[in-house]
Amino acid sequence: MMHDNHETLSGWNPLQLLVDSCDECEARGRLDDHGIPYLDAERFAAAWQRAADWNRTDLGGISITEAPLLNVLWAVQVQLERLGVPLGTIPLPEPHIGMHHNPEASSS
Ligand SMILES: [Zn+2]
Repeated sequence: MMHDNHETLSGWNPLQLLVDSCDECEARGRLDDHGIPYLDAERFAAAWQRAADWNRTDLGGISITEAPLLNVLWAVQVQLERLGVPLGTIPLPEPHIGMHHNPEASSS
């Protein structure tokens, strides 16, 4: 399936990850994973930031189709914040960040 010409669709703005009334975007948005695997690294980073911006500000122009995707990313960010990752920040690998399971360290 191909994307429709986003620029011609009602309500489109260039920051939207998935565009209303585009058959391809709407099909991705209906997937259980909301099309997250389709995002390349740059688009994923943009989606992550957009999810944070949307939840922390009065960011307008959110399409109906991208809302579930942004909601899922936001929910993950909220969980990550409880682990020390600031909202809107993609947790990248660093030596001393993360909760790696170490069987030898667990005592019961
Ligand atoms: Zn599209």
